[in-house]
Amino acid sequence: MSDNKPCKCSLYNKFTSTDGAATEYLASIIIMVYAEIQRGAEHMDSTDTLQNCPRCNGLMLQGVSRNALSRHFDVFICPNCGMDEAIRVFKGDVLPAASWSIVSEISKNLTIKLCNSSSNIENP
Ligand SMILES: [Zn+2]
Repeated sequence: MSDNKPCKCSLYNKFTSTDGAATEYLASIIIMVYAEIQRGAEHMDSTDTLQNCPRCNGLMLQGVSRNALSRHFDVFICPNCGMDEAIRVFKGDVLPAASWSIVSEISKNLTIKLCNSSSNIENP
């Protein structure tokens, strides 16, 4: 589980811990910030930069609001994820926010930046 860690600094552990409430909280913030960006892009008609689903990274339908609105966050997701969310809600098996594609992408990039700017880098 921890074999892929690029460094041992505490920041990385904060972002990648799978059992901490803080991670789920951070993940929720990332999704909510993304939702704001998505809304802004919709108004600016610049949706071409947001073609991928924040939940699975699959392709969204053109025109953000033609996709599915997430049941858990005020953000649009692809129709497949909309269906998956509906089924998961029915089964009581909600996908954690930390498992969303946008969260893992951003936390990975952020962690690499933060780790590289700190002094406790472990050489690959
Ligand atoms: Zn999706």
